[in-house]
Amino acid sequence: MKALKSYNILFSGLKNTLHHFDYTINDEFLKNFTEEKLNVNNIKIGLDFDKNENFIMLDFQINGIIKTTCDRCLDPLDINIDNTYQLVIKFEDTSEIKEEDEIIFLPLESTEINVAKYIYEYLMLSIPSYKTHSLNKSSCNPEIVAYLHTEKKDSDRDPRWDKLFEETN
Ligand SMILES: [Zn+2]
Repeated sequence: MKALKSYNILFSGLKNTLHHFDYTINDEFLKNFTEEKLNVNNIKIGLDFDKNENFIMLDFQINGIIKTTCDRCLDPLDINIDNTYQLVIKFEDTSEIKEEDEIIFLPLESTEINVAKYIYEYLMLSIPSYKTHSLNKSSCNPEIVAYLHTEKKDSDRDPRWDKLFEETN
């Protein structure tokens, strides 16, 4: 996890004001969390880190392109990602870190937080589970689409094709 040290924010030394951090997601970063190859070398993370007297507001902006393959026609597919996620850090008289929806509770004496885990979670949330060309308003491979339409005429077809077919039209 040494590679993730640069995602540590030592907030005890920061003034109570808005700070900004920039990160780039690459395979090196992802290796810490998953075996899956995601081809996300262009993903940028901007983090607004608004430190207040008793809490910190974090605003993550995730931007970039994921190079993947279409779940429908299997051709290469680029997906644009442009999302923001908010997180609040609060301080409590506790000895362990607690998380609850978009709030993290840190022990009162905390001085830093590592944001790598949150960046990874938000990146995963940004990637649609069903990835098709319609996501970026381009078209699927016409040969495969024609094949799916042929399947439609087959009454013994898997009902899952119906959903695929609806999305075609
Ligand atoms: Zn496609």
